[in-house]
Amino acid sequence: MLSNYQGSANALVELLKQQGVEDEVVLSAIANTPRHLFVDEVLKHKSYENTALPIGQGQTISQPFIVAKMTEVLKQVGVKGRILEVGTGSGYQTAVLAQVFEQVFSIERIKSLQWQARRRLHLLDLYNVTMKHGDGWKGWASKAPFAGIIVTAAAQSVPDELLAQLEDGGAMVIPIGVEAQTLTLFVKQGEQFIRHALAPVRFVPLVAGEVG
Ligand code: SAH
Repeated sequence: MLSNYQGSANALVELLKQQGVEDEVVLSAIANTPRHLFVDEVLKHKSYENTALPIGQGQTISQPFIVAKMTEVLKQVGVKGRILEVGTGSGYQTAVLAQVFEQVFSIERIKSLQWQARRRLHLLDLYNVTMKHGDGWKGWASKAPFAGIIVTAAAQSVPDELLAQLEDGGAMVIPIGVEAQTLTLFVKQGEQFIRHALAPVRFVPLVAGEVG
């Protein structure tokens, strides 16, 4: 699936290592994921650059460094098993998660993006992913609790309904803020959530409601 692009994918992995990504499982997931299949034909030549790119509908495929870091953070705090992703977008982050964790549930509010992402994941034979069209602010109560939650759009306030769907010992990584956003980690310990500010980031907004 990577063929002509394997060299570019390997170079991207080297760059991510230099920038501090250490987890070997995460790095090999990045090396094995054909990012050129997650963008439009005209952007393929940029698909292994460490940048966010437009995917239509005013949305973006996340920067590979951010994808790797968010995945690594969950793994480093001991998350294993079932993951909820909010904001499927292109499905690139979903594909990486599916190679690192046992099972991934992913929600997207824009139906056309969700359909394209679904096709890509089938093409890559990643069958441990379940997708849904809907409003991720509400999470996915019928599939909860989750060991990890990853939100790939910026929330203006902490989504309590998502925190409520974490299992004990579970963790959520999410950008919080509007203009100035902070990548934030919440770890559930009993009835408490331990909050860590990780880094300044820039994501598209987490919007309430769904569109057809
Ligand atoms: N991880 C994706 C990022 C896509 S951008 C990728 O790398 O391709 C963020 C996505 O979140 C967009 O597709 C947007 O439509 C979606 N989104 C925004 N608000 C949402 C909500 N409330 N529920 C579900 N998806 C949402």
